[in-house]
Amino acid sequence: MKNTANRGRIMIIGAGGVATVAAHKCAQAPEAFKEILVASRTFSKCEAMQRDIRQRYGRDIQAAKVDADNVAELTALISSFRPDLVLNLALPYQDLHIMDACLATAVNYMDTANYEPPDEAHFEYSWQWAYQERFKEKGIMAVLGSGFDPGVTNVYTAYAQKHLFDEINYLDILDCNAGSHGHPFATNFNPEINIREVTQTVRHWEKGKWVETPAIIEEGSVHFGFDYPVAGMQESYLLYHEELESLVLNIKGLKRARFWMTFSDNYLNHLRVLRNVGMTRIDEVDYEGHAIVPVKFLKALLPEPASLGTGYTGKTVIGNIMTGKKDGKTMTRYIYNVCDHAEAFKETGTQAIAYTTGVPAMIGAMMVMTGAWEGAGVFNMEQLDPDGFMEALNRYGLPWQVVEHEPLPDKV
Ligand code: NDP
Repeated sequence: MKNTANRGRIMIIGAGGVATVAAHKCAQAPEAFKEILVASRTFSKCEAMQRDIRQRYGRDIQAAKVDADNVAELTALISSFRPDLVLNLALPYQDLHIMDACLATAVNYMDTANYEPPDEAHFEYSWQWAYQERFKEKGIMAVLGSGFDPGVTNVYTAYAQKHLFDEINYLDILDCNAGSHGHPFATNFNPEINIREVTQTVRHWEKGKWVETPAIIEEGSVHFGFDYPVAGMQESYLLYHEELESLVLNIKGLKRARFWMTFSDNYLNHLRVLRNVGMTRIDEVDYEGHAIVPVKFLKALLPEPASLGTGYTGKTVIGNIMTGKKDGKTMTRYIYNVCDHAEAFKETGTQAIAYTTGVPAMIGAMMVMTGAWEGAGVFNMEQLDPDGFMEALNRYGLPWQVVEHEPLPDKV
């Protein structure tokens, strides 16, 4: 069925770094996004986005205050604005509440990060995949993980599967931030979510099962130096990342799938100290009669990711190295994007991590709202046709290249 009659109405939830970029990019494409509503917990941040967008593009967007954990409040707001799609750029904790409100109002849903319960540092798709039948029955789409990784990395894999290979056997996703923000320690996206992600035990997929290795801050963590295009040699750490979970199910023929991310010694040392003194704990502790969660307190002390753009220099390089077969021959291809922090800041007022997430969120929304992606149910990005999305990446600021490459070693 056709998802929408393309009324061009989008509701963005959240007003952090990623939402800021997505709202800017939507405002730059009035042919697809005719009415934009930004709704978040802190109204002043929505108003600041409204002002900036008016100044830069002469466009008026709407703003509203909403608690996305309050399904009734959210349902009322969706009912009154009547968007074609709700783009969830708040935090993973809100995913299920926003999906519930989308079901109640029969509106399409999209996000950039899978659900994570607040009291457990654990993320997986099962909670959101459980909505499959309900979204199908309503005739609406939920598209999960339309950022860069997950998001573009899933689409790169789908594109490679469709155009470059008969079968992909080895997949390595490499995420490099070679930029410098000038702060002694900061995280590039929400600190709480970031720290929960990088302090967990690492997993990669090999020969049909998950293999565990130590967390990046532990003795014995797996890492190697990779020579990135433009950014050069950077130490890259094996890390568990959510797109691996759906890719190993949806890409047939995979024998191994790994995810790597660069970290500086400075970042890892700060993280080790914070962990050792208990500042990364996610449970409540009593402080002079107040219950506080250390990682939330730490978030309040660290720079807001949305504020890091000023003076941020350098590049991000994110992409997939894939080895597989084409016409009986084994070959390896590397698909990647290079994004510049300073250019991202000039265009949207945020750094490249927010930019590389917010642009694909806007493109994913455009694919659903124009009917280029249609269907009913819950989808991961590699299950949808990659061509229109890949073409839009070139048009909207995240151009990609495909090059020949050496296969990555088995052991590093
Ligand atoms: P921020 O912390 O900068 O922004 C989150 C926003 O959500 C804030 O404006 C916050 O409000 C708002 N929010 C939080 N809780 C609620 C609530 N209950 N109701 C309404 N609004 C709420 O995060 P980022 O912009 O850095 O990240 C946004 C999302 O993008 C995260 O889920 C992150 O995991 C994901 N991400 C995905 C990537 C990918 O490549 N796939 C990469 C990077 C991030 P307030 O301003 O009041 O705090």
